Amino acid sequence: MPEDILGQDYEYCRYCGKKYPRGTLSSRGVCPDCAFTRIRSVAQALMQKEGPIYERWKENWKRGMERAIKRKKEEGKKWLEKWEEGIKKAMKWI
Ligand SMILES: [Zn+2]
Repeated sequence: MPEDILGQDYEYCRYCGKKYPRGTLSSRGVCPDCAFTRIRSVAQALMQKEGPIYERWKENWKRGMERAIKRKKEEGKKWLEKWEEGIKKAMKWI
């Protein structure tokens, strides 16, 4: 393959290992096909509400919310309590 001579103009997807022209992969080294598959599997996991992807997503989401609550507390917003109540309800829902 003549393009292999140039070598450095290609990079490999970290998931499927396929060769792509440099610049095609995401910053995390994932090709568009795998990125799409991952997004789809995450979406499926979230809908089914089970599995490691969902558990990880839920933990990240909770952590993000807790951080946001902390930030809002520091800002001293009056509507915080109402807002926090809503978040807690949402956490029960997930
Ligand atoms: Zn790939």
